[in-house]
Amino acid sequence: MADFITSGRRITRKPHRCVGCLAVIPKGTEVTFGTFSDCGRIFTSYTCATCDKVMRENLDCGDEFGEGELIGAYPEYYENRKPKSDGEGK
Ligand SMILES: [Zn+2]
Repeated sequence: MADFITSGRRITRKPHRCVGCLAVIPKGTEVTFGTFSDCGRIFTSYTCATCDKVMRENLDCGDEFGEGELIGAYPEYYENRKPKSDGEGK
């Protein structure tokens, strides 16, 4: 069980992999991050804007999820992730 240390918003200075959907977050993107301690190891996870929204709307504070599980659990949030290639959609 990881212990939560801190979280917040920051601009990425290098690419990171989103912990919720495993998409690469390009550098220069504003992200939500969380820093944790687990068995003496400190690590920081990053979530993209879409996963941030999924967590705010669906998860309670303290809910945990595995790497890449958000996109599997809430695929409807990720349908329009890819740039539209034909027109404006609906
Ligand atoms: Zn994500």
